[in-house]
Amino acid sequence: MKCILVCLPIFITTILFAEEKVWPKGYTDTPKLPHADWKVHDIDRPAPKQITPGKTNSDAPSDAIILFDGKDLSEWIGAKGKVPAWKVENGYMEVTNTGNIYSKREFGSCQLHIEWCAPDPPQSNSQHQGNSGVFLMDKYEIQVLDCFDNETYADGMAGAMYGQYPPMVNPVRKPGEWQTYDIIFTAPEFEGNKLVRKGYATVLLNGVLVQNHSEWLGPSTHKRVAKYKPHAAKGPIRLQDHNDKQPVRFRNIWVRPLD
Ligand code: MG
Repeated sequence: MKCILVCLPIFITTILFAEEKVWPKGYTDTPKLPHADWKVHDIDRPAPKQITPGKTNSDAPSDAIILFDGKDLSEWIGAKGKVPAWKVENGYMEVTNTGNIYSKREFGSCQLHIEWCAPDPPQSNSQHQGNSGVFLMDKYEIQVLDCFDNETYADGMAGAMYGQYPPMVNPVRKPGEWQTYDIIFTAPEFEGNKLVRKGYATVLLNGVLVQNHSEWLGPSTHKRVAKYKPHAAKGPIRLQDHNDKQPVRFRNIWVRPLD
């Protein structure tokens, strides 16, 4: 009892007046990194900008550009510069066989989130069952296709870089269910007519990695080997109307330019 009476005030006083230890926020006496102008743990290296992530990993973070929030097509133009005539209802847009649509803004390298849904019940087969596509820079297609119970060629499946690389696995959900794409696209670079950096894509389909920094051979083509031709540094995102009356739906589209 006597010990408690003596020790407790000492303990409380120690807690109250103890100075918080200040740890170093970085270092100046470390070796320089070979790939950067900074030292290891460099105290002067600028911190990345703080942003607010979405509530879930499908929701847009604070620095994303919203291309479709379920309400209207104000960020999109239709074929030949016309007003896009895709249907918008219940928070999604739907292909209506009125042609492709294009984002008004143009992008090079970017992180793109887009959700899609193939028609249920299935209405056709192979490349005509729920075919659409997400074309980065209007040229590089990540295929959209109902591949739940629908055989087709591997490099034309959902998650494929069309005509070039099949997805590593097939994680698609049933038609009528929403599927998510998270695409990290690295644009090719040209200096004049010379290709100085190839393009790449990393793709997650329903949260599953299906392309891991796969190299584009060139813009997507059908029944041919793709080949690069010089093009502008930026281009619109194109959503495909495959022209076979397949009412594929899209929702929750946002993008973060990585230039
Ligand atoms: Mg397609």
